[in-house]
Amino acid sequence: MAITKPVALNQTKKGDTMEALRRKILSEGRVASDDVLKVDSFLNHQLDTVLLNQIAEEFYQRFASEQVTKIVTVEASGIALAVLTGRLFEVPVIFAKKQPQQKASDCQSETFYTADVYSYTKACQYQMVIAKDYLQATDCVLLIDDFLANGEAATGLMTILEQAGAKLVGLGIAIEKGFQKGGDQLRRSGIKVESLAIIDRMTKEGIVFREND
Ligand code: 5GP
Repeated sequence: MAITKPVALNQTKKGDTMEALRRKILSEGRVASDDVLKVDSFLNHQLDTVLLNQIAEEFYQRFASEQVTKIVTVEASGIALAVLTGRLFEVPVIFAKKQPQQKASDCQSETFYTADVYSYTKACQYQMVIAKDYLQATDCVLLIDDFLANGEAATGLMTILEQAGAKLVGLGIAIEKGFQKGGDQLRRSGIKVESLAIIDRMTKEGIVFREND
């Protein structure tokens, strides 16, 4: 029996998805403070399945030449994008679980890879954990997340990949806040970071995107 791709790619023109995401951010995003953008209507609470699927297709096209064996993200907001992307690559998706720091000792190091991460949006330290059963040294991992800001979540996930001996293929990010340091630092260290909308400046009066390369 012939095996076919489970989902037909729509083959959107390069740039269409970035444009659609920017338009959505401008029409529905809300600048909550100098450095926090709320996008609850399509990405962080209600999910716009058509737009999210387009974003996943764009990630697929940008990383299709790489040998991806697993998608890794962090709960909760990265999961939807990670699942849609994993379906296209036909690979498993793992989401790192977040443990409050006071419960961190519940996750034994014999069973879990762990990393300590600071969330500046929630102003708290937490531990992210992935069970050792699901990540192997043979894995080539694409990291997916909704936002990239200071790079704390990405660095935590990379620490876990290092513990497993897995290879990092790159990062697929929906919205990067380019005025925070994470994206530029990761790119300077040679990591392939593909962000579909990069915000260079934002205030309650408006949002300025970085020009496309
Ligand atoms: P970082 O770890 O790069 O500093 O921040 C990225 C993580 O924090 C993402 O997983 C995302 O959930 C959250 N985050 C960072 N900035 C924002 C933001 O402006 N809005 C929302 N909704 N989440 C953010």
